[in-house]
Amino acid sequence: QGKRDGRGTFRFFQLEMGQALKVRALREQELRAGILRGEIEPFYQPVVALPGRELIGFEVLARWRHPDQGLLGPGEFIQLAEETGMIADLSWSLMRQACNDARLWPAHLQLAVNISPLQLQDRQMPERVLAILTETGFAPSRLEIEITETALVQDLEAARIALRSLQNIGVRIALDDFGTGYSSLYHLRELKFDKLKIDRSYVASIPLGSERAKLVDAIIALGSSLGLVTTAEGIESASSVEWLAEQGCTYGQGFLFGRPMDKPATDLLLNEWSDVAGKLVLSGSTPQ
Ligand code: C2E
Ligand code: MG
Ligand code: MG
Ligand code: MG
Repeated sequence: QGKRDGRGTFRFFQLEMGQALKVRALREQELRAGILRGEIEPFYQPVVALPGRELIGFEVLARWRHPDQGLLGPGEFIQLAEETGMIADLSWSLMRQACNDARLWPAHLQLAVNISPLQLQDRQMPERVLAILTETGFAPSRLEIEITETALVQDLEAARIALRSLQNIGVRIALDDFGTGYSSLYHLRELKFDKLKIDRSYVASIPLGSERAKLVDAIIALGSSLGLVTTAEGIESASSVEWLAEQGCTYGQGFLFGRPMDKPATDLLLNEWSDVAGKLVLSGSTPQ
């Protein structure tokens, strides 16, 4: 009896797994076709200087405009793209589109692009970036590349070489999601970054005087003692803006200042925002 149940369960698992593999294979085909059809597009989220909220640039965030499922976030396809190697095509095409778009923005605005662990292991990565910059006419000094610590654990030496060549051509490097990795301090010691991005899990509604606030304070101090600028990500409440600025946090990003927007919405924002003394100041509510 028990044996039969066991076998039945096993068969059930086989069916389930078969189903899951089929679903995954289909998704993979869809994504491959989607990339070719140009369904992956850059969305732009504002980054502002603290506390005055002058717009200093945008971070590029990937979105998949799926023909029948609507707009999909990176959580729905980046991992699959990594596992199947499609991430390279996807990312380079995204960076090219973003540099093309950003080329027409006011010249002081920066562009931050996320790159994946796989791209960091690619020996030709710096040349590929340079090729895109040359082709689009976008200045290297306006580009920032964001990497997460998971990208660094794989091959630190390869990362070191790639990051140094990028910095040599004037591209800046940000360590993304700081505080979520396993060995953040080790990476800070081993590699030269230009910026720390404090993960939003620390920033989200910082209650004053809380343990989390003390940690954020310490991260900002650590950053400035190493000569790095800091960006607090995931700022949702106005109450943390003053506090972050007082602790010396340079930049901020979050729904309070603006959500990630497609290119038309971004262009609209750039056209409509008050341009006082040559500065774009975000009042707090952006379209979408
Ligand atoms: P990230 O680089 O840390 O990007 C910030 C994420 O936080 C974005 O999520 C953004 O929409 C979200 N966010 C920003 N402000 C707030 C806020 O105030 N509140 C909340 N709750 N969330 C906020 P998104 O777009 O879903 O991206 C998730 C992650 O996917 C990114 O985290 C990044 O690691 C990855 N990703 C996005 N685009 C790309 C890409 O083109 N290439 C690679 N390799 N990874 C990407
Ligand atoms: Mg990022
Ligand atoms: Mg981040
Ligand atoms: Mg994050």
